[in-house]
Amino acid sequence: IHVVLQYSPTVSVTLGEEFGLKAGKDMNGILNASLRRTGFDKVFDTSFGADLYITELAAEVENRIRGGQQVPVFSSDCPAWVKYMEQWHPDMLPHLSACKSPQQMLGAVISSYYTGLFHINPDNLYTVSAMPCTAKKFEAQREQMTHKGISDVDAVLTTRELAQFIRLNGIDIQQMDSELADNPFHVRSSSGRLLSVSGGVTEALIRSLHHRITGKDLNQPKIAELRNTREYKEYKIKIGDFKLGFAVVNSVRQASKLISEIKAGRNDLHFIEVMACPGGCINGGGQPIGSDSAALKARIRTIYEIDEKDPIRFAYKNPAIVEIYRDFLGEPMGQKSIELLHTTYKKREVPL
Ligand code: SF4
Repeated sequence: IHVVLQYSPTVSVTLGEEFGLKAGKDMNGILNASLRRTGFDKVFDTSFGADLYITELAAEVENRIRGGQQVPVFSSDCPAWVKYMEQWHPDMLPHLSACKSPQQMLGAVISSYYTGLFHINPDNLYTVSAMPCTAKKFEAQREQMTHKGISDVDAVLTTRELAQFIRLNGIDIQQMDSELADNPFHVRSSSGRLLSVSGGVTEALIRSLHHRITGKDLNQPKIAELRNTREYKEYKIKIGDFKLGFAVVNSVRQASKLISEIKAGRNDLHFIEVMACPGGCINGGGQPIGSDSAALKARIRTIYEIDEKDPIRFAYKNPAIVEIYRDFLGEPMGQKSIELLHTTYKKREVPL
Protein backbone atom coordinates (compact mmCIF):
# COMPACT_ATOMS: atom_id res chain seq x y z
CA ILE A 1 0.00 0.00 0.00
CA HIS A 2 1.29 3.45 -1.00
CA VAL A 3 0.26 5.84 1.80
CA VAL A 4 0.26 9.60 1.28
CA LEU A 5 -0.80 12.48 3.48
CA GLN A 6 -2.04 15.97 2.70
CA TYR A 7 -2.32 18.65 5.39
CA SER A 8 -4.42 21.81 5.41
CA PRO A 9 -2.66 25.22 5.38
CA THR A 10 -4.44 25.99 8.66
CA VAL A 11 -2.93 22.95 10.38
CA SER A 12 0.58 24.22 9.77
CA VAL A 13 -0.11 27.44 11.74
CA THR A 14 -1.94 25.77 14.66
CA LEU A 15 -0.16 22.46 15.25
CA GLY A 16 2.73 24.13 17.11
CA GLU A 17 0.36 25.11 19.94
CA GLU A 18 -0.18 21.39 20.65
CA PHE A 19 3.57 21.16 21.30
CA GLY A 20 3.76 24.27 23.49
CA LEU A 21 5.10 26.57 20.74
CA LYS A 22 3.82 30.12 20.38
CA ALA A 23 0.49 30.60 18.60
CA GLY A 24 0.74 31.32 14.89
CA LYS A 25 4.15 29.69 14.33
CA ASP A 26 4.18 28.33 10.77
CA MET A 27 5.25 24.66 10.89
CA ASN A 28 4.98 24.05 7.14
CA GLY A 29 8.50 22.75 6.40
CA ILE A 30 8.82 21.02 9.79
CA LEU A 31 5.54 19.18 9.18
CA ASN A 32 6.85 17.87 5.85
CA ALA A 33 9.97 16.51 7.58
CA SER A 34 8.10 15.10 10.62
CA LEU A 35 5.43 13.32 8.62
CA ARG A 36 8.00 11.70 6.33
CA ARG A 37 9.70 10.29 9.44
CA THR A 38 6.40 8.70 10.53
CA GLY A 39 6.43 6.62 7.34
CA PHE A 40 4.20 8.36 4.82
CA ASP A 41 5.49 7.70 1.31
CA LYS A 42 4.64 11.25 0.21
CA VAL A 43 3.58 14.43 2.01
CA PHE A 44 1.52 17.09 0.21
CA ASP A 45 0.33 20.56 1.20
CA THR A 46 -3.42 21.08 0.65
CA SER A 47 -2.61 24.71 -0.30
CA PHE A 48 -2.07 23.29 -3.80
CA GLY A 49 -5.67 21.95 -3.63
CA ALA A 50 -6.75 25.43 -2.53
CA ASP A 51 -5.10 26.96 -5.63
CA LEU A 52 -6.94 24.39 -7.72
CA TYR A 53 -10.23 25.24 -5.95
CA ILE A 54 -9.78 28.97 -6.62
CA THR A 55 -8.92 28.31 -10.28
CA GLU A 56 -12.05 26.21 -10.84
CA LEU A 57 -14.24 28.52 -8.74
CA ALA A 58 -13.14 31.61 -10.71
CA ALA A 59 -14.07 29.87 -13.98
CA GLU A 60 -17.45 28.78 -12.56
CA VAL A 61 -18.30 32.21 -11.11
CA GLU A 62 -17.29 33.94 -14.37
CA ASN A 63 -19.50 31.56 -16.40
CA ARG A 64 -22.45 32.10 -14.10
CA ILE A 65 -22.06 35.91 -14.12
CA ARG A 66 -21.79 36.01 -17.92
CA GLY A 67 -24.79 33.65 -18.28
CA GLY A 68 -26.79 35.39 -15.53
CA GLN A 69 -27.55 32.00 -14.02
CA GLN A 70 -27.81 30.96 -10.37
CA VAL A 71 -26.21 34.13 -9.10
CA PRO A 72 -25.17 34.73 -6.34
CA VAL A 73 -22.89 31.71 -6.09
CA PHE A 74 -22.30 30.33 -2.59
CA SER A 75 -18.88 28.90 -1.67
CA SER A 76 -18.68 25.12 -1.20
CA ASP A 77 -15.42 24.48 0.67
CA CYS A 78 -16.98 24.27 4.16
CA PRO A 79 -18.73 20.86 4.49
CA ALA A 80 -20.69 21.96 7.56
CA TRP A 81 -22.23 24.75 5.48
CA VAL A 82 -22.87 22.42 2.51
CA LYS A 83 -24.72 19.96 4.76
CA TYR A 84 -26.73 22.79 6.29
CA MET A 85 -27.81 23.94 2.80
CA GLU A 86 -28.83 20.38 1.87
CA GLN A 87 -30.90 20.07 5.05
CA TRP A 88 -32.45 23.49 5.42
CA HIS A 89 -32.34 25.27 2.04
CA PRO A 90 -32.53 22.54 -0.65
CA ASP A 91 -34.31 24.97 -2.99
CA MET A 92 -31.12 27.09 -3.00
CA LEU A 93 -28.76 24.20 -3.92
CA PRO A 94 -28.43 25.40 -7.56
CA HIS A 95 -26.69 28.47 -6.08
CA LEU A 96 -24.06 26.36 -4.31
CA SER A 97 -20.76 26.17 -6.24
CA ALA A 98 -20.27 22.72 -7.79
CA CYS A 99 -16.54 22.79 -6.90
CA LYS A 100 -15.33 20.11 -4.47
CA SER A 101 -13.37 21.47 -1.51
CA PRO A 102 -9.53 21.77 -1.65
CA GLN A 103 -9.22 18.54 0.42
CA GLN A 104 -11.33 16.60 -2.07
CA MET A 105 -9.82 18.22 -5.18
CA LEU A 106 -6.30 17.34 -4.06
CA GLY A 107 -7.47 13.81 -3.17
CA ALA A 108 -8.96 13.45 -6.67
CA VAL A 109 -5.76 14.50 -8.48
CA ILE A 110 -3.60 12.37 -6.17
CA SER A 111 -5.59 9.27 -7.16
CA SER A 112 -5.52 10.13 -10.89
CA TYR A 113 -2.74 12.51 -12.02
CA TYR A 114 -0.19 11.58 -9.34
CA THR A 115 -0.70 7.82 -9.58
CA GLY A 116 -0.38 8.08 -13.37
CA LEU A 117 2.87 10.07 -13.18
CA PHE A 118 4.47 7.67 -10.71
CA HIS A 119 2.98 4.42 -12.11
CA ILE A 120 1.10 3.57 -8.91
CA ASN A 121 -1.97 1.36 -9.00
CA PRO A 122 -4.81 3.55 -7.58
CA ASP A 123 -6.19 0.41 -5.87
CA ASN A 124 -2.99 0.36 -3.75
CA LEU A 125 -3.22 4.01 -2.77
CA TYR A 126 -4.34 5.18 0.69
CA THR A 127 -4.79 8.92 1.20
CA VAL A 128 -4.90 10.51 4.65
CA SER A 129 -5.62 14.17 5.24
CA ALA A 130 -5.00 16.34 8.28
CA MET A 131 -7.67 19.01 8.64
CA PRO A 132 -8.78 21.73 11.09
CA CYS A 133 -12.21 20.27 11.23
CA THR A 134 -14.40 17.33 12.23
CA ALA A 135 -16.85 18.07 9.36
CA LYS A 136 -14.08 17.13 6.91
CA LYS A 137 -14.37 13.52 8.14
CA PHE A 138 -18.02 13.59 7.11
CA GLU A 139 -17.18 15.23 3.76
CA ALA A 140 -14.63 12.53 2.84
CA GLN A 141 -17.34 9.87 3.31
CA ARG A 142 -19.93 11.48 1.02
CA GLU A 143 -20.85 9.09 -1.78
CA GLN A 144 -20.21 11.87 -4.35
CA MET A 145 -16.53 12.00 -3.28
CA THR A 146 -15.41 8.89 -5.15
CA HIS A 147 -14.33 8.37 -8.73
CA LYS A 148 -14.56 4.94 -10.42
CA GLY A 149 -14.93 3.36 -6.98
CA ILE A 150 -11.79 5.01 -5.54
CA SER A 151 -12.29 7.46 -2.63
CA ASP A 152 -10.72 10.89 -3.07
CA VAL A 153 -9.62 10.72 0.60
CA ASP A 154 -9.62 7.57 2.77
CA ALA A 155 -9.11 8.91 6.29
CA VAL A 156 -9.16 12.32 7.95
CA LEU A 157 -7.31 13.37 11.11
CA THR A 158 -7.95 16.62 12.98
CA THR A 159 -5.07 18.87 14.06
CA ARG A 160 -5.28 17.41 17.58
CA GLU A 161 -5.24 13.83 16.27
CA LEU A 162 -2.26 14.65 14.05
CA ALA A 163 -0.36 15.95 17.09
CA GLN A 164 -1.14 12.70 18.96
CA PHE A 165 -0.02 10.68 15.95
CA ILE A 166 3.31 12.54 15.75
CA ARG A 167 3.90 12.01 19.49
CA LEU A 168 3.01 8.31 19.25
CA ASN A 169 5.68 7.97 16.56
CA GLY A 170 8.27 9.45 18.90
CA ILE A 171 8.99 12.46 16.69
CA ASP A 172 10.49 15.52 18.40
CA ILE A 173 9.29 18.25 16.04
CA GLN A 174 11.55 20.84 17.71
CA GLN A 175 14.58 18.93 16.39
CA MET A 176 13.38 18.79 12.78
CA ASP A 177 14.79 20.86 9.92
CA SER A 178 12.39 22.19 7.30
CA GLU A 179 11.82 20.19 4.13
CA LEU A 180 9.73 20.86 1.02
CA ALA A 181 6.43 19.11 0.28
CA ASP A 182 6.54 16.43 -2.42
CA ASN A 183 6.25 16.71 -6.18
CA PRO A 184 4.06 17.33 -8.15
CA PHE A 185 2.11 19.40 -5.59
CA HIS A 186 5.10 21.06 -3.91
CA VAL A 187 4.45 24.64 -5.06
CA ARG A 188 1.58 26.84 -3.88
CA SER A 189 0.61 30.49 -4.09
CA SER A 190 -0.24 32.56 -1.02
CA SER A 191 -3.82 32.71 -2.35
CA GLY A 192 -4.02 29.02 -1.42
CA ARG A 193 -3.00 29.79 2.15
CA LEU A 194 -5.54 32.62 2.46
CA LEU A 195 -8.37 30.06 2.46
CA SER A 196 -7.57 29.43 6.13
CA VAL A 197 -9.19 32.70 7.21
CA SER A 198 -12.67 34.15 6.80
CA GLY A 199 -12.61 36.40 3.71
CA GLY A 200 -9.65 34.53 2.24
CA VAL A 201 -11.65 32.59 -0.36
CA THR A 202 -13.17 35.85 -1.59
CA GLU A 203 -9.84 37.68 -1.67
CA ALA A 204 -8.17 34.85 -3.60
CA LEU A 205 -11.20 34.52 -5.90
CA ILE A 206 -11.24 38.24 -6.80
CA ARG A 207 -7.55 38.01 -7.79
CA SER A 208 -8.22 35.11 -10.19
CA LEU A 209 -11.57 36.47 -11.44
CA HIS A 210 -9.91 39.80 -12.28
CA HIS A 211 -7.31 38.00 -14.36
CA ARG A 212 -9.91 35.85 -16.15
CA ILE A 213 -12.11 38.85 -17.05
CA THR A 214 -9.46 41.50 -17.87
CA GLY A 215 -6.36 39.40 -18.64
CA LYS A 216 -4.42 41.50 -16.12
CA ASP A 217 -3.24 41.11 -12.52
CA LEU A 218 -5.16 42.99 -9.85
CA ASN A 219 -2.93 46.01 -9.02
CA GLN A 220 -3.42 45.68 -5.26
CA PRO A 221 -3.91 42.00 -4.31
CA LYS A 222 -4.56 42.83 -0.64
CA ILE A 223 -8.23 43.69 -0.02
CA ALA A 224 -8.23 45.34 3.39
CA GLU A 225 -12.05 45.48 3.63
CA LEU A 226 -12.11 41.66 3.85
CA ARG A 227 -9.41 41.42 6.52
CA ASN A 228 -11.25 41.66 9.81
CA THR A 229 -13.03 39.26 12.15
CA ARG A 230 -16.54 40.72 11.75
CA GLU A 231 -19.36 38.20 11.28
CA TYR A 232 -20.46 39.92 8.06
CA LYS A 233 -18.39 41.74 5.42
CA GLU A 234 -19.27 43.16 2.02
CA TYR A 235 -17.11 44.35 -0.84
CA LYS A 236 -18.04 45.84 -4.21
CA ILE A 237 -15.63 46.09 -7.14
CA LYS A 238 -15.82 46.85 -10.87
CA ILE A 239 -14.01 44.22 -12.95
CA GLY A 240 -14.06 44.93 -16.68
CA ASP A 241 -17.67 45.82 -17.48
CA PHE A 242 -19.08 44.02 -14.43
CA LYS A 243 -20.02 45.70 -11.17
CA LEU A 244 -19.67 42.82 -8.71
CA GLY A 245 -20.80 42.37 -5.13
CA PHE A 246 -19.17 39.97 -2.67
CA ALA A 247 -20.30 39.03 0.84
CA VAL A 248 -18.43 37.07 3.50
CA VAL A 249 -20.12 35.47 6.48
CA ASN A 250 -18.69 33.26 9.15
CA SER A 251 -21.78 31.83 10.77
CA VAL A 252 -24.72 29.90 9.34
CA ARG A 253 -27.08 32.23 11.24
CA GLN A 254 -25.85 35.20 9.19
CA ALA A 255 -25.93 33.10 5.99
CA SER A 256 -29.58 32.20 6.63
CA LYS A 257 -30.42 35.88 7.02
CA LEU A 258 -28.76 36.57 3.67
CA ILE A 259 -30.73 33.76 2.01
CA SER A 260 -33.97 35.35 3.23
CA GLU A 261 -32.88 38.69 1.73
CA ILE A 262 -32.06 37.02 -1.61
CA LYS A 263 -35.41 35.24 -1.68
CA ALA A 264 -37.04 38.62 -1.01
CA GLY A 265 -35.39 40.03 -4.15
CA ARG A 266 -31.93 41.27 -3.14
CA ASN A 267 -29.80 41.10 -6.32
CA ASP A 268 -26.61 43.13 -5.81
CA LEU A 269 -24.44 40.15 -4.73
CA HIS A 270 -22.60 37.75 -7.07
CA PHE A 271 -20.59 35.60 -4.66
CA ILE A 272 -21.10 34.73 -1.00
CA GLU A 273 -18.41 33.03 1.07
CA VAL A 274 -19.75 31.06 4.02
CA MET A 275 -17.67 29.52 6.79
CA ALA A 276 -19.44 27.84 9.69
CA CYS A 277 -16.70 28.67 12.23
CA PRO A 278 -16.16 32.21 13.55
CA GLY A 279 -12.99 33.47 11.85
CA GLY A 280 -12.94 30.54 9.41
CA CYS A 281 -10.99 27.26 9.46
CA ILE A 282 -8.26 28.83 11.57
CA ASN A 283 -10.77 28.41 14.43
CA GLY A 284 -12.20 25.01 13.39
CA GLY A 285 -13.52 22.28 15.66
CA GLY A 286 -10.43 20.07 15.25
CA GLN A 287 -7.93 22.76 16.25
CA PRO A 288 -6.12 22.90 19.62
CA ILE A 289 -8.57 23.26 22.50
CA GLY A 290 -8.44 26.17 24.90
CA SER A 291 -7.08 28.78 22.49
CA ASP A 292 -7.98 32.38 23.33
CA SER A 293 -8.64 35.35 21.05
CA ALA A 294 -4.95 36.33 21.20
CA ALA A 295 -3.99 32.92 19.75
CA LEU A 296 -6.63 33.30 17.06
CA LYS A 297 -5.29 36.73 16.11
CA ALA A 298 -1.72 35.37 16.00
CA ARG A 299 -2.79 32.57 13.60
CA ILE A 300 -4.56 35.08 11.32
CA ARG A 301 -1.58 37.48 11.44
CA THR A 302 0.76 34.71 10.29
CA ILE A 303 -1.45 33.90 7.26
CA TYR A 304 -1.52 37.58 6.21
CA GLU A 305 2.23 37.97 6.76
CA ILE A 306 2.87 34.96 4.52
CA ASP A 307 0.69 36.56 1.83
CA GLU A 308 2.42 39.96 2.07
CA LYS A 309 5.87 38.44 1.52
CA ASP A 310 5.10 35.60 -0.87
CA PRO A 311 6.66 35.66 -4.35
CA ILE A 312 3.53 33.97 -5.82
CA ARG A 313 0.29 35.66 -4.71
CA PHE A 314 -2.05 34.55 -7.52
CA ALA A 315 -3.29 30.97 -7.90
CA TYR A 316 -2.99 31.15 -11.70
CA LYS A 317 0.74 31.97 -11.35
CA ASN A 318 1.50 28.80 -9.40
CA PRO A 319 3.75 26.88 -11.86
CA ALA A 320 2.46 23.53 -10.55
CA ILE A 321 -1.11 24.65 -11.36
CA VAL A 322 -0.04 25.74 -14.85
CA GLU A 323 1.61 22.34 -15.31
CA ILE A 324 -1.36 20.21 -14.20
CA TYR A 325 -3.73 22.05 -16.57
CA ARG A 326 -1.21 21.82 -19.42
CA ASP A 327 -0.41 18.13 -18.95
CA PHE A 328 -3.56 16.61 -17.49
CA LEU A 329 -6.70 18.63 -16.78
CA GLY A 330 -6.94 20.75 -19.92
CA GLU A 331 -8.77 23.90 -18.90
CA PRO A 332 -10.71 25.05 -15.83
CA MET A 333 -14.32 23.83 -16.08
CA GLY A 334 -13.23 21.55 -18.95
CA GLN A 335 -14.54 18.00 -19.28
CA LYS A 336 -11.83 16.39 -17.15
CA SER A 337 -12.01 19.06 -14.44
CA ILE A 338 -15.77 18.66 -14.15
CA GLU A 339 -15.44 14.87 -13.97
CA LEU A 340 -12.78 14.95 -11.23
CA LEU A 341 -13.08 18.24 -9.38
CA HIS A 342 -16.78 19.07 -9.37
CA THR A 343 -19.64 17.45 -7.47
CA THR A 344 -23.39 17.39 -6.96
CA TYR A 345 -25.66 17.94 -3.97
CA LYS A 346 -29.05 16.64 -3.00
CA LYS A 347 -31.79 17.40 -0.53
CA ARG A 348 -31.03 15.79 2.81
CA GLU A 349 -33.82 14.74 5.13
CA VAL A 350 -33.60 16.39 8.53
CA PRO A 351 -33.71 13.93 11.42
CA LEU A 352 -36.16 15.43 13.91
FE1 SF4 B 1 -14.58 23.01 9.01
FE2 SF4 B 1 -15.14 25.24 10.34
FE3 SF4 B 1 -13.54 25.33 8.18
FE4 SF4 B 1 -16.15 24.86 7.89
S1 SF4 B 1 -15.21 26.76 8.66
S2 SF4 B 1 -14.46 23.75 6.88
S3 SF4 B 1 -16.61 23.65 9.73
S4 SF4 B 1 -13.13 24.30 10.11
